[in-house]
Amino acid sequence: MFTKGTKAYSILNNVCPRCQSSKFWPRNNPYTNIFVKNNGDLGSCKSCNLKFEIELGFWYGAMYVSYALSVSVFLIIWLALSLFFNSINVINEIIIISISLIIISPVVYFLSRLIWINIFISFNSKE
Ligand SMILES: [Zn+2]
Repeated sequence: MFTKGTKAYSILNNVCPRCQSSKFWPRNNPYTNIFVKNNGDLGSCKSCNLKFEIELGFWYGAMYVSYALSVSVFLIIWLALSLFFNSINVINEIIIISISLIIISPVVYFLSRLIWINIFISFNSKE
């Protein structure tokens, strides 16, 4: 299902969207990639030389993906709290959801860039 050549393979395995043989983020753990050097510039692929920041400001678009992921996390936590804790009040829900979003934000940042570049770059086995 998520075999090499699919966008899901690139996103889930943190590999370059074009060649799918070198890493996109330097490390697989999102929490260790928070402080990437060069103001978050990921440079280019070591195998196919694809420049990850296709144009100036390309990563601003990843904010839309990040927003969608954050809203999804918010909805999942809110539904879980509503289903399993009937008597929880709104203030506690807001606190739990806010803390959860802060904790999960490096994962959202990690995935949003991977998803965003996979929207524009397709797998090419010849590269
Ligand atoms: Zn590549």
